[in-house]
Amino acid sequence: MDCIRICNLEIFGKHGVYEEENKLGQKFLVSADLYFSTRTAGCDDILSESLHYGEVCHFINDFMKDRCYKLIETVAEQLAKELLLRFRKLERVRIEVKKPWAPIGLPLESVSVVIERSWHTAYVALGSNMGEREEYLQNAIQTLEERADCSVERISRFIETEPYGYTEQERFLNGMIELHTLLLPEELLALLQEIEQEAKRERVTKWGPRTLDLDIIFYDDMIIDSVELTVPHADMHNRGFVLEPLAQIAPNVRHPVLNQTVAQLLEKLESKQQ
Ligand code: ATP
Ligand code: CA
Ligand code: CA
Repeated sequence: MDCIRICNLEIFGKHGVYEEENKLGQKFLVSADLYFSTRTAGCDDILSESLHYGEVCHFINDFMKDRCYKLIETVAEQLAKELLLRFRKLERVRIEVKKPWAPIGLPLESVSVVIERSWHTAYVALGSNMGEREEYLQNAIQTLEERADCSVERISRFIETEPYGYTEQERFLNGMIELHTLLLPEELLALLQEIEQEAKRERVTKWGPRTLDLDIIFYDDMIIDSVELTVPHADMHNRGFVLEPLAQIAPNVRHPVLNQTVAQLLEKLESKQQ
């Protein structure tokens, strides 16, 4: 991807584990690779279509002077986040924070931390079959939208569906959202579980009645198989109540394991059910 590269911006800052570092300060060198499409700006020669690297440098300078962190890991983490939040054209950043005068009692050229952070696209399925179902779904969407590190980009219509698995229960209201987020998959799962808890979700019977269920269907094109998390969701291709709202907002997104688009998966499921 296209990139504007800021190399070794020199700033005097007070980050460090030692008290003297916080008092006296020292030199930091910050490099930032700013990933976004420069195509329109490059073709039309218009600054407003690009990122003003002068502004970015001043932003980094102010950030480095205003804050005081112990670790350069934290400096890099927070700086990457703030840049992605402040400059919305940015899709990804690579940050290097260098300390040329690191006080370790030995001569060294520099020590640095390098990280890459970006916006991610996740599809999250919402379901409820207890109480004010629509309110539970709407509240969950609003809670996500209110966070700086999440942005709800698309919302499907909500559909009424028959219960799945354990069928002796009320009908469900199901929906799907496209979420842009700075959270990593495990962090997103933890957040969704927190929102479920706020909705007084209780896990009694598997697939049983619930005020709110939030499942990660896709996260970029990542494939995850850990104890807590399976992405893409392991059973999504067998569920009309997942595929139907997903096809409304993302028909052409491709399942990274099954290598079929959402529209194709839905068509296949519907022909199987007939
Ligand atoms: P199902 O996952 O079959 O729809 P469920 O939603 O009723 O069933 P829960 O009780 O909500 O199941 O979740 C059980 C566990 O599933 C969670 O604790 C979570 O760790 C795990 N899990 C694995 N993959 C995912 C995913 N993609 N999204 C949400 N939870 C997941
Ligand atoms: Ca579920
Ligand atoms: Ca779930």
